[in-house]
Amino acid sequence: MKLKVFHKFSYGLYIIASEHLGKKAGYIANTTFQVTSEPPQLAISCHKNNQTAEVILSSGVFSVSVLKKEVNMKIIGDFGFMSSGDIDKFAGIKSIKGQSGAPIVVDNSVAWFDCKVMKSIDLGTHYLIIGEVLDSDEIADEDPLTYQHYREKYKMYSPKNSPTYIEKSKLEAELIPVSEQADEPEHVHIFNGESYVCVICGYTYNPEEGDPSIGIPPGTRFEDLPEDYKCPVCNASKEYFKKV
Ligand code: FE
Repeated sequence: MKLKVFHKFSYGLYIIASEHLGKKAGYIANTTFQVTSEPPQLAISCHKNNQTAEVILSSGVFSVSVLKKEVNMKIIGDFGFMSSGDIDKFAGIKSIKGQSGAPIVVDNSVAWFDCKVMKSIDLGTHYLIIGEVLDSDEIADEDPLTYQHYREKYKMYSPKNSPTYIEKSKLEAELIPVSEQADEPEHVHIFNGESYVCVICGYTYNPEEGDPSIGIPPGTRFEDLPEDYKCPVCNASKEYFKKV
């Protein structure tokens, strides 16, 4: 079996959110797809370890927000790499309440769907959850974020709870020719022999490129980043970066 061919699937990236007894939860999903048109139903696949899974199954409702192409990476870090049990992902985020009662994230999104759970199927590690769309709306006439764009721009892989997770070392072994496997992975750029990887999410800080999205110009050494610098993906502080 070839693992890299799993990246030939086209996906978008979405925020799935729900609320039960005042507790809000949400996560980033790429597996969200329409399964019927009459009535309109969507399916999502949610890891059992995600706090959101329990909240969706208890409340019987969830929302899907379609992220915009030039998304703020803080929202990816908070919703994609943090746990709803550890942080309030909705603090500082613009959201509305759907007719189902589910919170709907409208920040950084181009459209949303408000759904009621019709069925859930236990798939071992994940629940496949089918929801009927009660309501939907467009927020902005902009391009949605695709999973391919996310992978190419941010050089990121799926987090472990994702249905599309592939172990990084196995994937890299396939992507890099055998003769070069002792060298650095292809996405790690070298600046005076150094770049820095976030050990939590795998984001690579490349001093040659800097991080212009938050005002860090190209050519900024890691040591010269402000002390309060945070990983743009998972929000981890500088101490979680490892020199490679
Ligand atoms: Fe990170």
